[in-house]
Amino acid sequence: MVLADLGRKLNAALSSLNRAPIVDEKVLDTLLKDVCAALLETDVNVKLVAQLRQKVKAKVKASLESGADKGKDVNRKSIVQKAIFDELVQLVDPGVEPYKPKKGQSNVIMAVGLQGNGKTTTCTKLAVYYQKRGFKSCIVCADTFRAGAFDQTRQSATKAKVAYFGSYTETDPVAIAAQGVAKFKKERFDVIIVDTSGRHKQESELFQEMVQIGEAVKPNMTIMILDASIGQAAEAQARAFKESSNFGAIIVTKMDGHAKGGGAISAVAVTKTPIIFLGVGEHLHDLEKFSPQPFISKLLG
Ligand code: GDP
Repeated sequence: MVLADLGRKLNAALSSLNRAPIVDEKVLDTLLKDVCAALLETDVNVKLVAQLRQKVKAKVKASLESGADKGKDVNRKSIVQKAIFDELVQLVDPGVEPYKPKKGQSNVIMAVGLQGNGKTTTCTKLAVYYQKRGFKSCIVCADTFRAGAFDQTRQSATKAKVAYFGSYTETDPVAIAAQGVAKFKKERFDVIIVDTSGRHKQESELFQEMVQIGEAVKPNMTIMILDASIGQAAEAQARAFKESSNFGAIIVTKMDGHAKGGGAISAVAVTKTPIIFLGVGEHLHDLEKFSPQPFISKLLG
């Protein structure tokens, strides 16, 4: 099920609330059952869904006990709707402000994530995003593991008219990262994006490499690139990367596809880390800024 389906199901549940002549516990329970079923089908973690159900019930109960409905069903409906909306926002809002690049200084951003998640594509998209907003931006390719990684960076950076750095001969990713960042800092770039190796699996070697690159380039922000299409596996992947690279932001890619997306949403709660962008296609401009409230509003149409 794609996110649009989730939106439709949530809307169907909420409109059945609107049609109900009275709002009692039975109506609320049915509504919450439908909302929770839709979230579970989208791969949202079962514990988070159970928490959402409890919190909505507790909020509605407290409101009704304080007489906020003034005895009217119409008010009761808006209380229930607001409680559900707020809790859906909470699902994607860890309450942490992500780092914001500042002009006139070097902002080093390090991208981590497994191979195939869309790291290299996203690094270029990010560079384009910041470049368009007046930040002098560039990319350092510190992926020496995958054959052709530097070529991919070179091609996409050239297409995007973004400066890049990498090496065909140096095999130490830490050395390349350090050299590239030092060079671009000297040249007064505002946003320096370091693309790292992904490998296929969560291996201890990969995590060690992330720690070493992190120590060498001292990123202002590390971003985990998470593929929406991996479903519930997103949670475990995010947890493992959080331990090694302590990322401060998440970008969820491939939200345009048939991804369920709920696993990536759960990764926010598990790692208490905000999503900052969504990848919505293969092209350079297919990057959408993410904010919890507008995202849920759009989901509910
Ligand atoms: P990396 O191994 O993590 O660096 O992944 P790549 O950047 O090479 O991307 C892997 C594949 O995913 C490529 O075919 C990309 O075009 C594709 N891709 C990346 N981001 C998105 C996205 O947001 N939407 C779609 N549909 N494809 C994406």
